[in-house]
Amino acid sequence: MLLDMKNKAMIAKYAEKYGSFYLYDESCIISSVNVLKENFPQIEFLYSVKCNSNHDVLHSVFAHSFGADAASLGEVLLANEAGLTKDKIYYSAPGKTMEDIEAAISKSILIADSLDEIKRIQMIASKSDITVNIGIRINPDFSFHGNCGQPSKFGIDEEQAVEFVRNYDCKNVKITGIHVHLRSQELNVGTLSDYYGKILHLAEKFHSLCGELDYVNMGSGMGIQYSVDETPLDMKLLSAGIKSEIDRFKTTYPNTKLIIETGRYVVGKSGVYVTKVVERKVSHQKTYLILKNTLNGFIRPSLAVLVTRCAAQDEPAPSEPLFTGKNTFQFLTLKDDAPTEPVTLVGNLCTAADVVAEDIMLPHLECGDCIVITNAGSYAAVLSPMQFAAQEKPVEIFLTADDRIIVD
Ligand SMILES: *Cc1c(COP(=O)(O)O)cnc(C)c1O
Repeated sequence: MLLDMKNKAMIAKYAEKYGSFYLYDESCIISSVNVLKENFPQIEFLYSVKCNSNHDVLHSVFAHSFGADAASLGEVLLANEAGLTKDKIYYSAPGKTMEDIEAAISKSILIADSLDEIKRIQMIASKSDITVNIGIRINPDFSFHGNCGQPSKFGIDEEQAVEFVRNYDCKNVKITGIHVHLRSQELNVGTLSDYYGKILHLAEKFHSLCGELDYVNMGSGMGIQYSVDETPLDMKLLSAGIKSEIDRFKTTYPNTKLIIETGRYVVGKSGVYVTKVVERKVSHQKTYLILKNTLNGFIRPSLAVLVTRCAAQDEPAPSEPLFTGKNTFQFLTLKDDAPTEPVTLVGNLCTAADVVAEDIMLPHLECGDCIVITNAGSYAAVLSPMQFAAQEKPVEIFLTADDRIIVD
């Protein structure tokens, strides 16, 4: 979201009332949704609930014809409560138990993550004498950047899946879709379009094995700009890059839905996290600004500092969704014209690990002044250990597209 005059005034107003809070801007969510819909008219989109399951966010995204990518039974139920019907909720996660499957079978489309899971679904379906259409998550014989398969805790190895489907004997389970997801946060158009192309080829293979598929879920991958040094993903270019493959696929298989699921592209940039300076302290000539609820309220900036400090490499590898890279958050203030000074931003927890930024230049701030942290729409509130140290939890504030405020 933009820190324009209007949003700054709103942040100042709510900072008087709340020690720390998330602010989500629905108009940003809608503009990301529209970028996806305009550039990929032949694709259906799912929203990955795990990146931000705030009630208002879910309602907003689902109102724009997105389905749900649910990563747990709890997320299936959240999507269901937010108004989605069974055919729009895809439940894909490793390690689903019998109880998970029993509770989700009538509320979602199950994507089996292992051969044993298919057998568990078969047992449950045969008990009720029903036939269930499921998808299978495949661990393909290619990686995001190469042409070899990799070991993975997710999905069924392509070779095993092929073998299984050839000798298929589960009477109550029909495989009607496939799902592949290999990585998140990719900004390179060429890499992404190669990846989608490879999945379409894989889909053709499974079409010939399983019969016509209802859907091919190509997973996520679409990244957002975190650091100012990164170039945002060019969606027009990506759309042009995959158009001929998609057209070709759709001509051969007009009834098969092509799906992309994404969390962060939809909401990542729509949110900011606002915290306040609760103390200024100078120690051995270093100025610390002690802030409310950093590591416990929004953990990712602290993790970025931790990984950067501990990693042997200059550019530590990402480990989503905990760590994306160095300098992935900006620390903004509402005081643009104050003289700047070097400060270290730390939290108010009794641990030295809640450092959010070291030796950065900021306008001079006093107690009560706000720090606004960007890129807090995805993997932010949901990922943070808010129960730690019995601190007051940050609230979540939702600004609707028609300028109403909802406080959760
Ligand atoms: C987490 C996850 C996503 C969402 O990833 P984003 O980077 O937020 O788009 C999509 N698909 C699967 C299977 C996931 O586990």
